[in-house]
Amino acid sequence: MGPAAGAAGWHHVAMTLVDPDRATASPPAVEEERATRTAFRTCPLCEAGCGLEITVARDEDGGERVTRIRGDRDDVFSHGFICPKGSTLRQLHDDPDRVRRPLVKRDGTFVEVSWDEAFAAVERLLGAVIEAHGRESLAAYVGNPNVHNISALLYLKPLLRALGTPNVFSASTVDQRPKEISSALMFGAPLTVPVPDIDRTHHLLLLGANPVESNGSLATAPDWPGRLKAIRARGGRVVVVDPRRTRTAELADEWIAIRPGTDALLLAAIAAALFEEGLVDTGSAGPHLAGVEEVSSFVSPFTAEAVAEVVGVDSETIRRLARDLAAAPSATVYGRMGTTTAEFGTVASWLVDVCTALTGNLDRPGGSMFTRPAAGAPSTRGAPGVGRGVRLGRRHTRVRGLSESLGELPVACLAEEIDTPGDGQIRALVTIAGNPVSSTPNSDRLDAALGGLEAMVAVDVYVNETTRHADVILPAPSALEKSHYDLALLQLAIRNVANWSDPVLDKPVDQPDEWEVLARLALIAQGMGANGDPAVVDELVLDTLITASVDDEHGPVHGRDPAEIKEALGATPGPARLLDLMLRAGPYGDAFGTRPDGLTLAALRDAPHGVDLGALEPRLPEVLRTPSGRVELAPAEILADLPRLRAALERGAPGTEMRLVGRRDIRSNNSWMHNVEVLVKGKARCTLHVHPDDAGRLGLVDGDAATVRSRVGQVTAPVEVTDSIRTGVVSLPHGWGHDRAGLRMGVAQRHAGVNSNVLTDDAAVDAISGNAVLNGIPVEVAPALDSS
Ligand code: SF4
Repeated sequence: MGPAAGAAGWHHVAMTLVDPDRATASPPAVEEERATRTAFRTCPLCEAGCGLEITVARDEDGGERVTRIRGDRDDVFSHGFICPKGSTLRQLHDDPDRVRRPLVKRDGTFVEVSWDEAFAAVERLLGAVIEAHGRESLAAYVGNPNVHNISALLYLKPLLRALGTPNVFSASTVDQRPKEISSALMFGAPLTVPVPDIDRTHHLLLLGANPVESNGSLATAPDWPGRLKAIRARGGRVVVVDPRRTRTAELADEWIAIRPGTDALLLAAIAAALFEEGLVDTGSAGPHLAGVEEVSSFVSPFTAEAVAEVVGVDSETIRRLARDLAAAPSATVYGRMGTTTAEFGTVASWLVDVCTALTGNLDRPGGSMFTRPAAGAPSTRGAPGVGRGVRLGRRHTRVRGLSESLGELPVACLAEEIDTPGDGQIRALVTIAGNPVSSTPNSDRLDAALGGLEAMVAVDVYVNETTRHADVILPAPSALEKSHYDLALLQLAIRNVANWSDPVLDKPVDQPDEWEVLARLALIAQGMGANGDPAVVDELVLDTLITASVDDEHGPVHGRDPAEIKEALGATPGPARLLDLMLRAGPYGDAFGTRPDGLTLAALRDAPHGVDLGALEPRLPEVLRTPSGRVELAPAEILADLPRLRAALERGAPGTEMRLVGRRDIRSNNSWMHNVEVLVKGKARCTLHVHPDDAGRLGLVDGDAATVRSRVGQVTAPVEVTDSIRTGVVSLPHGWGHDRAGLRMGVAQRHAGVNSNVLTDDAAVDAISGNAVLNGIPVEVAPALDSS
């Protein structure tokens, strides 16, 4: 697949080059003809999915380079919005530290090798571990960027299956797993998440969410700042509940400084107030809800008065939050990292949707609604309104006995599964675009554990804190060399849209596409050798998807001849062909001819600014895939957490102990964009935020260093005294700490910062999901010795 010429195609631009020494004299200017073209693509860096307009210049030697990236003003969803990261795809592509050739470690040093040599090394390494210890000694870790990557979303499954191990971990269990579980239990599938209809709502209550910095998550929407301002401009109200006065809170009508980790108690109290004050009105969703009575009895102990001291919010404010939700013409509740990476992540995630349902705001415009995506959503396949739901706890971790969820084990257990001897001990790890040493709790323990592995293989573009332990690193093409479709995140969009991007630049001739790397790894893991043909895996995935489509008696291609469909899709392997199938057999698709105006990949290619499929519309009950065919408002698995929540209430408020929370920064993207100079230059961003009262009490001085200690670790960071954080709380951003030996990230190493996950505790997890607790960590804070 060649580079996309974009709508404008090639054209010639007269460049006037003025000699700077003679700039004030009358020119002679030198004119040079330079060929440029414009390409359009979706930014793959975060969940907002902004459209980009990319200018590509052709050099005299025939090579191409990107000269400018800006927001695509004609994009149907982002309308020209981008954040500071969007234009840095160019810097990422050009980064001299980016791994471009496979690396194999020899005598402790990485050396570049051919792809064949690299795959042969993988076969040798994994084969030896499987032979000596069995497949249960293998493990895989899947990082966050995979969710933005169509190749990974389509070809990781065969790889993970081929590894044949239960030890599958991912960044989901340091992030959104609680929301996926509550959604799966309530609505039948993990990504059937009601998203806040922020473009139409009259009242938005955000908890532990900072979309102005993060650009949104589990609610795909470019330009959160503009959309939040629009709510207020049309007379609506925005309320932010957060221990920090974030940039989102600055844009809101009200900031409520909750004590970290207590969102579940606050939400329970809001729900309790709705029942107590007779404000429950489930509206049009009412007939589809099961379990309203059970919810009432669950929340009844958590009155506003009972929780006020523990959550740090007075009871009248809590009751007002409930009354405002009930009184608004439409209202929606949205919770993110602060609610999910907490002690009661699943209960809080569940109560977010309970509060919208109890106030009649589930599945109505301006409330919380369900996307109807063009491809890949379980809620658009099979029988509408009913399904198998999910089962949790089908197996447990070897050392601690924590439950699996959605086919994965909690990543908080990864280190102990590696460093604890015994049957089933993990001896080899495959990481795919992941940096768990930076992103998961008790980093130092995991870092040490990785050093003891017998084999490690990484698919990654950097030698970072994690991949420095690898024996083999297999690089993926740069983002500009890959095609893109947000298969997962468009399932969570606040508007139904679809947008395909072809690669902007050709990749080097010997660089395999990412799907080919994953497919060859799958073949090796399957025992089919290092020289297997990745097309074999592609064919398998294609046949599986075609079979599922023609077997779906509610789908538009039910009963069709699989061979006819396969022929219509053409012979070119890869994610584009698979997506074409999913689009055409999807809810807007052309059904291979029976709906001639329907969506196809060709139609998306003809629409470089994307296709707008319309505002969200009510989908109850057809969106459901629960066994009962109803919204399970009171899942037994969640109600079972009641004793633990009661115990937390009885524990009371912490005394003077400090609690650590995280922090987002718009220039940062978890751990992997700190090697881009324009994003890290200037004022240091990895600072410890401390309230002035706490700074005075603890003897901390702005600009000086403080030592922060938790049960598992200690870091020293510069203090930033600010009243944008509540007392009793300190904050560090995550993704930093690039000072370990052996990295090849020169810029990041010069702006190292400290790793907040040295402090987060691998023993602390949400009981239902196993998700790590990354917010509300008990810490001691004191002036660093060398700064006193
Ligand atoms: S908000 Fe920034 S990083 Fe996210 S998709 Fe848009 S431009 Fe890319």
